[in-house]
Amino acid sequence: TAASKQSLKIGLIPADGIGREVIPAARDAILALGSSIPKPEFIELLAGYEYFTRYRTALPDETVETLQNECDCALFGSVSSPSRKVTGYSSPIVALRKKLDLYANIRPVVSVAAEKGQKPTVDLVVVRENTECLYVKQETLTNTENGKEARATRLITERASRRIGQMAFEAALARQRKHLTVIHKSNVLSITDGLFRETVRSVPRLPESSGRFDGVEIAEQLVDSAVYRLFREPEIFDVMVAPNLYGDIISDAAAALVGSLGLVPSINAGDNFVMGEPVHGSAPDIAGKSIANPLASIRSAALMLRHLGYSDGADRIDNAVDEVIRRGDVLTPDLGGKSRTEDVTAEVLKRI
Ligand code: ATP
Ligand code: MG
Repeated sequence: TAASKQSLKIGLIPADGIGREVIPAARDAILALGSSIPKPEFIELLAGYEYFTRYRTALPDETVETLQNECDCALFGSVSSPSRKVTGYSSPIVALRKKLDLYANIRPVVSVAAEKGQKPTVDLVVVRENTECLYVKQETLTNTENGKEARATRLITERASRRIGQMAFEAALARQRKHLTVIHKSNVLSITDGLFRETVRSVPRLPESSGRFDGVEIAEQLVDSAVYRLFREPEIFDVMVAPNLYGDIISDAAAALVGSLGLVPSINAGDNFVMGEPVHGSAPDIAGKSIANPLASIRSAALMLRHLGYSDGADRIDNAVDEVIRRGDVLTPDLGGKSRTEDVTAEVLKRI
């Protein structure tokens, strides 16, 4: 098990733009934990759009093989997306999710309470299915007598819905409220969303669940009203689980509730691997200026550790980040401060 490991091998893939400035901060936060986790060993790995412009591949085989064969987990920075389609280029993060079968994207969205110990107004987790739905990208364009006709296939399988459901129940079980909301639109899409809804709801009754999810309260919400309620009364949500497209939209909408993109972490998780990733992109407008907010990456490291079962270490990192935000005197410009990336990192490390 994770807890009995001698060392923790962590792949670091800073990739492009501010990824190179914030991933070192996440690494240092893990190092600052000292002996409360197995000794971390970091392996620097290459990927990204800039790498592609030099070597015509955005994801070298060596990176994938090292992750598969040597690493327990990884931290990914961010990739620049070219504004126009570039022949031969495809996103390395999308490829990594596929190759490592990271079928869940998990994004906690938490506001920081003004006082220590106070309840934050927004405290929810979006669990997004990451392999199918409309994003299987099976699109066709045909000419008909009435003009062009475009179609897209939406794939929902029982297998993918079941495993994302299991991940979501686990996430809910690990939280205080133990409340799970299934997001769907099965009043309109009764077959696809109907299958998703039914499959997720049936997880507690699976033999392998053996009653462990009995304490999780399950609710459901149509996706449109879920977005409405998310903005009006975010406190009603604890864990939300959704198919890929709705999950994509809801997780960005939820992130907008807590201010800067520079604060929101995520993990990509599968049965055998987990990869932390800040939600923001490569932010070319601020790259290279040492003003990127490192807190999303630092929180991604905590989330990755929590997923691996090191919740004490994760708590120490999260508490340090909360404290730095609450004090408010050492923050990057996106949060209204004047400090540099490394100053904010140092402030977090001191508190860890
Ligand atoms: P990409 O194509 O890589 O996603 P983008 O131009 O969409 O790049 P994002 O990284 O998505 O940029 O960021 C959107 C905005 O939020 C930018 O103005 C960026 O500067 C800001 N931003 C994103 N991440 C951070 C961060 N960690 N710290 C400060 N500002 C950030
Ligand atoms: Mg972006």
